[in-house]
Amino acid sequence: MQRAIIENPPMLIRDGGVIATGFDAELDELRAISANAGDVLMEIERRERERTGLATLRVKYNRVHGYFIELSRRDAEQAPVDYVRRQTMKNTERFITPELKTFEDKALSANSRALAVEKGLYEGLLETLAAKLGALQESAQLLAELDVLCCFAERAEVQGYVTPVLVDEPVIEIIDGRHPVVERVLDDAFVPNSLHLDRERRMLVITGPNMGGKSTYMRQTALICLMAHIGCGVPAASARIGPLDRIFTRIGSSDDLAGGRSTFMVEMAETANILNHATRESLVLMDEIGRGTSTFDGLALAWAAVHHLATSLGAFTLFATHYFELTQLEQELPGVFNAHLSASEHGDNIIFLHRVQEGPASRSYGLQVAQLAGVPGAVIANAREKLAALEGNAAHGGPATGSTPTAGASTGITAAPQQPDMFASGPSPAERALREVDPDSLTPRAALDLLYQLKQLT
Ligand code: ADP
Repeated sequence: MQRAIIENPPMLIRDGGVIATGFDAELDELRAISANAGDVLMEIERRERERTGLATLRVKYNRVHGYFIELSRRDAEQAPVDYVRRQTMKNTERFITPELKTFEDKALSANSRALAVEKGLYEGLLETLAAKLGALQESAQLLAELDVLCCFAERAEVQGYVTPVLVDEPVIEIIDGRHPVVERVLDDAFVPNSLHLDRERRMLVITGPNMGGKSTYMRQTALICLMAHIGCGVPAASARIGPLDRIFTRIGSSDDLAGGRSTFMVEMAETANILNHATRESLVLMDEIGRGTSTFDGLALAWAAVHHLATSLGAFTLFATHYFELTQLEQELPGVFNAHLSASEHGDNIIFLHRVQEGPASRSYGLQVAQLAGVPGAVIANAREKLAALEGNAAHGGPATGSTPTAGASTGITAAPQQPDMFASGPSPAERALREVDPDSLTPRAALDLLYQLKQLT
């Protein structure tokens, strides 16, 4: 086999060049004819020029007339008798000779004959191999597996991966995990992060600034779990991983305009797939859901999705979000815990620490990140004013109790007022006051007074 086929054969036998030189004498000879055509022609030209003494004599080729001898008009008069006139040009005459004709037949047919011979040889080879097909396929399979395992071993050695421990209990415990790709492309050192999920701790609601490292943390978790399950070393100090049936992800915002689906539609279709199919043994990554619609719509959807994942499905879930309201679910739902990516602020600058810590983040730093990205100063200043106004409204207008996350201990930054809490339970003071009122017994004056009182309660 090694003798028959060249080292890197083309995909198709159609154009030849598959069978190796030295395997078949006839094929070698036919190939030599086409390959050596140039040398033979030069030799004929040299010989004919010497024989006739005509300096303008050339042997040429074109597709229509094949090979011919060309002489200038003047020299053409002295052409030998065995030269047969083929074509008269403006300044030249073209001739063929019996020798040239024979050569032409041989050269042109050599190519197609070589192809035919090659095809025959190839088919013969296939027949020989067919008899041993089973054994060949089995060894190819084993070699492929060996190839993959060698690659795993080499990567583990070079990249400092450890062997994960696969266990039967439901657990994902990664100590100092790293993202295998991000750690390689970063100029700065990669900050390793740990993760612990088990029977009682099934979901992390992850908050923190954009660019803080949420996606990286979530993806590295999925990659480490996948690598562990396919028998590869993992980028971590240690890892203990239980059974997982599937890894689901809802990541990034891509649209499918050609398929007639908007970004939000794609996002919801992916979310639906997860909520319909994840099990207690699945790992689910939800990187921001509900961003493609109005704030309250989105928040409501994200909130309900967390509920479903935590209570009905119980899947291991990493849920990254900018909706601080969701951090409250730690208190309400069993198995749900908060984690955040830390950042620290110096004046207008923000420094990402990329370290995962317990508890909710203090704030989003959206404006600082926009500034870093190059959004014009005037726009940022305008946004800052608008933010202050919105936060003022929110602080005034809603019973924000419970929704204001505690300040991240690491950052030392006081918590900013948050979005109004649409999920706070219980009636508001104004609602309670209204419940007490009997409209039929109110005088117009009392009704007006009540209106003023209610206004003050809001
Ligand atoms: P987020 O999802 O919070 O917006 P990303 O995960 O996309 O943030 O991270 C943004 C960038 O921060 C990454 O492209 C990477 O350069 C850097 N980064 C993220 N995690 C780490 C880490 N653990 N150590 C060092 N750099 C990191």
